[in-house]
Amino acid sequence: MPVKGLGTYDDTNIFARILRGEIPCKKVYEDDHALAFHDINPQAATHVLVIPKGRYISVADFSTKASNAEIAGFIRAVGKVATALGLDDPGYRILANMGEHGGQEVPHFHVHLFGGHALGPMLARR
Ligand code: 5GP
Repeated sequence: MPVKGLGTYDDTNIFARILRGEIPCKKVYEDDHALAFHDINPQAATHVLVIPKGRYISVADFSTKASNAEIAGFIRAVGKVATALGLDDPGYRILANMGEHGGQEVPHFHVHLFGGHALGPMLARR
């Protein structure tokens, strides 16, 4: 079920549990501000999730509450991961789902990174 609205951060969400080491992940990258790991249900040849380490639900939550160091660190991590995976050329896609209309299922802010082949239209047809 997609998450509803902003609400308060749920410490039992699956990414919080991955960050605490309670659930394993196929780690791609980690630093002080971000963790990147392979999606459990990949939607492209390469499908990696990049998450900030702080307790943020959405980009609104993250951009208003996170420190400049957290925000810069997270964005830099997204770029580093894409480069490390060899995706800069021929390209890739990043996407972040937010709330009910965005279809967000895990209420911890995250960016999907897709690549490995031509990705087709930006959005599924309605
Ligand atoms: P959302 O719909 O919230 O943008 O995306 C959540 C993503 O998390 C989905 O692509 C889903 O496959 C992935 N996911 C859910 N549970 C797990 C898990 O336990 N491990 C990993 N690696 N990915 C997960």
